[in-house]
Amino acid sequence: MNASPTVIVLLGPPGAGKGTQAHILEEKFGLIQLSTGDMLRAAVAAQTPAGKEAKSVMEAGGLVDDRIVLEILKNRLEQPDIKRGVIFDGFPRTVGQAGSLDKMLSEKGQNVNAAISLDVDDEAMIVRISGRYACESCGEGYHDAFKRPHHEGVCDGCGGAKFIRRADDNADTVRERLVTYHKQTAPLIDYYDRLGVLTRVDAMKSIAEVQEMLARIVMSID
Ligand code: ADP
Ligand code: AMP
Repeated sequence: MNASPTVIVLLGPPGAGKGTQAHILEEKFGLIQLSTGDMLRAAVAAQTPAGKEAKSVMEAGGLVDDRIVLEILKNRLEQPDIKRGVIFDGFPRTVGQAGSLDKMLSEKGQNVNAAISLDVDDEAMIVRISGRYACESCGEGYHDAFKRPHHEGVCDGCGGAKFIRRADDNADTVRERLVTYHKQTAPLIDYYDRLGVLTRVDAMKSIAEVQEMLARIVMSID
């Protein structure tokens, strides 16, 4: 891996496994996972002005305004831990956001080192989302069929016993999120391909197999 901070973008529809894989890469390579979805959910829970503006759009499965997303992200990017390198999970989601990210990075002499598209078919994505849940205290993610805690009802990460499902993981919102993905986010695959940093990964494989492919890509960054 290179000496300047590594910047990785994980692309893929909702449920493709971005958060799951980013979390493992974070632990394996000491990179920081940056999920704009998590940041926005925190803003909604804290009822900040940005959170209040974002709430209804998120519930409807649309995209929050670029201005709000970039504002939240800029604050996070100023934290010192970022120097180790980052994995963007769920950002950018529009060509406009990708352009803003390039601009922010180029001001610091950096660029996106790798954009990885996690390719899954729409049906698998719906199965993954409808079985998704997480530990309420530490956020560790699980799935009813594909990733259960080692001891039923007890979080592997923190021992917590309360689990939550996301409000936007319901059938209607998922359909809308998928439409939003194809219309507004999928064009980023071409965007990063043109920049010469894109790798496509078959994310229909198991969590461990996908992780192996991603680790190889991260290790090949120079
Ligand atoms: P995203 O962050 O892209 O929305 P997640 O990482 O939250 O997706 O994954 C969605 C759900 O699918 C989670 O419950 C996760 O445990 C499960 N999952 C992730 N990757 C795989 C995979 N390769 N095979 C099966 N299930 C997976
Ligand atoms: P996620 O956790 O990535 O699935 O995101 C959940 C929701 O947050 C999305 O359906 C969007 O409404 C919103 N969101 C997350 N990231 C972004 C982004 N980069 N741009 C716009 N909206 C976002």
